[in-house]
Amino acid sequence: MSGGTARRMRPGLAISPAFTVMRDVVCGECGVRFQITHRAPANDGELATRQAVWLADKFVWDHIQENKHRASIELPEIPAADTKDTHE
Ligand SMILES: [Zn+2]
Repeated sequence: MSGGTARRMRPGLAISPAFTVMRDVVCGECGVRFQITHRAPANDGELATRQAVWLADKFVWDHIQENKHRASIELPEIPAADTKDTHE
């Protein structure tokens, strides 16, 4: 089950009304901007906050491994009780 999707923002690209934009995440390396979207009935602001951290980490790894950022990234469900420190 998906916890939502992050989409690279492009001018003129409309987000389907079935999705709600929860958060913007900007890659600290290249400045590309993504939007974290959740399917409308399942909007979860706290989950989006955890996913923003996860996504920023993923962007760093993409650059370390010289991968391009994908235009659309499936986001994991990240439980609130997950105390793993992903900042290291
Ligand atoms: Zn980047």
